[in-house]
Amino acid sequence: MKDDCIFCKIAAGEIPAAKVYEDDEVLAFEDANPMMPVHTLIIPKEHYDNIADNIPDATMARLMQAVGKVADVKGVRESGFRVVINTNDDACQTVHHVHAHVLGGGAMNDGDPSPR
Ligand code: AMP
Ligand code: ZN
Repeated sequence: MKDDCIFCKIAAGEIPAAKVYEDDEVLAFEDANPMMPVHTLIIPKEHYDNIADNIPDATMARLMQAVGKVADVKGVRESGFRVVINTNDDACQTVHHVHAHVLGGGAMNDGDPSPR
């Protein structure tokens, strides 16, 4: 747990979040400021700054496996969704605890890498 990390606090249950999926390694919860009708974040419970922060293979696998679980819970497996992992300043990462955005529930711009 990293001091003053809001997502570590969510993982520890110290800050409330609307849980979508959880296992021993990862937690998925609703984004507090949704950009799409479906906007869920997936985090590893352990702190890593970003997707390039030497995440162990097993944790990385869980993070990506959780995408399909979230898609099922949110009902977007068939309709489609986008997975976005903002990394550092050029990509406007604001919370420096790695998280995957799962976005869907409506059509998104073709070819626009940023739905925000
Ligand atoms: P990013 O810009 O990729 O770092 O995304 C951070 C995301 O975290 C934003 O979409 C925020 O709306 C979301 N967020 C920040 N604080 C919370 C919170 N306490 N609970 C849920 N989502 C949050
Ligand atoms: Zn953290």
